[in-house]
Amino acid sequence: MTHDKQVFDNVLDLIGNTPMIKLKKMTSEFKGNFLAKVEAFNPGHSSKDRIALYIIEQAEKQGILKPGDTIIETTSGNTGFSIAMVSVIKGYDCILAVSSKSSADKIDMLKNMGAKVYVCPANVSADDPRSYYQVAKRLHDEMKGSVYINQYFNQLNIDAHYASTGPEIWNQTDGKITHLVACSGTGGTISGTAKYLKEQNPNIKIIGVDAFGSVLKKYHETREFDDKEIYPYRIEGLGKNLIPTATDFDVIDKFVKVTDEESAHTAREIAKTEGLFVGYTSGAAMQAIKQLSASGEFKSTDNIVVIFPDHGSRYMSKVYSDKWMSEQGFFDSVNAEAAQSIQYIK
Ligand code: PMP
Repeated sequence: MTHDKQVFDNVLDLIGNTPMIKLKKMTSEFKGNFLAKVEAFNPGHSSKDRIALYIIEQAEKQGILKPGDTIIETTSGNTGFSIAMVSVIKGYDCILAVSSKSSADKIDMLKNMGAKVYVCPANVSADDPRSYYQVAKRLHDEMKGSVYINQYFNQLNIDAHYASTGPEIWNQTDGKITHLVACSGTGGTISGTAKYLKEQNPNIKIIGVDAFGSVLKKYHETREFDDKEIYPYRIEGLGKNLIPTATDFDVIDKFVKVTDEESAHTAREIAKTEGLFVGYTSGAAMQAIKQLSASGEFKSTDNIVVIFPDHGSRYMSKVYSDKWMSEQGFFDSVNAEAAQSIQYIK
C-alpha cells in the first residue's frame, strides 16, 4: 500500500525482512563467503519481534486473546521487549518474569515499554518456585484472561521462523546457502529456519551454537539430559539448563560450544571490523565460525549465513563496558590488549 513511500500504519509493519550483510574483513582469512542476517534491524532490535507478533496473532486468530487481556512471558529481555511492543500497539497488558542475569538496561527498557517486570534468581533449577518459569506459570494460573507465551515450549516459536526467517534467507541467498550458523536458546530460530531451509535443500548444514555450562550440545549428541553439564555462565539468551521442546534437535547437524570470554571479545571485534554494533550472542555465533573455520569446516565456494540476533546497545553495562569486562577477568589473559583505550584530556 503506502509501504513504497516508507509510511507505515504502525511499528509492527516493520518486523521481519531484515537485511543480510557480507562479512568481509573479519572473515578475510577464512574459506567461504560469510553473510550476517542482522536481526537488530527489526524495530524491537532483535529476532524476537518475529515470534512475539506471530504467536500473539495466532492467539488472536484462535480467539484466545481478547482486547484488554494480559500476556505473560519468561524472557532474558529481548522476547519481553518484543511482546511489550506488540502489546502497546494491540492494547494488551504485559507481565514479564526475567532472570536476574539480565542487564539493568534491559529491565529498564521493558518497564519503559509499559511492562510489569518480575526479576527472578538466575541460578536456581527450573522447577524451583522462584525460577522465572514457575513465577510466570503461577501468575498465569492466578489471572483469568491471561495468555502464557511459553517460548521454550511453544511450537509456534518454531513456526514463526519457518514462516519468515527461513524463506527470507533462502531468497536473499538465491538458494545458494550451504551452512546456517545460529545460536540456540529456545531453539526456535535455528529449528524453524532449518526446517524451511532443509525442505528446500536437505544438504544445507545446520550448526547450532551452545554455551559451556549448557546441556544442549550433549543432549543433541547422546539424547541424554546430563545435569552435570550445568554451571553458571555469562552469555544471555544462548544455551539452556533444560531441554526446550521449541528445539527440533533432528534438523540440527551439530553444536559448537563457545566461551563467555572469547564470545565477548569477538562481539567487540565485529563492531571494530565490520562496523556492526551487535549483541553478545552475535559475538558467540561469530566465535563459533572462527572455531569451525580453524577446524576446516568450510570450503571456498561455501555460502555461510550467520544469524546476529540482536543489537549491541542492550549490552552497554556488560560486553561493551570495560569495567564489566575487567570484573570478569576478560582483560587478564591473552586478550589484555583488547581493552579499549580512552584518553581523558584535562
Ligand atoms: N540471542 C539472544 C540475544 C537471545 O535473546 C536469544 C533468545 N533466547 C537467542 C540468541 C536464541 O534464539 P532462540 O531462542 O530462537 O534459540
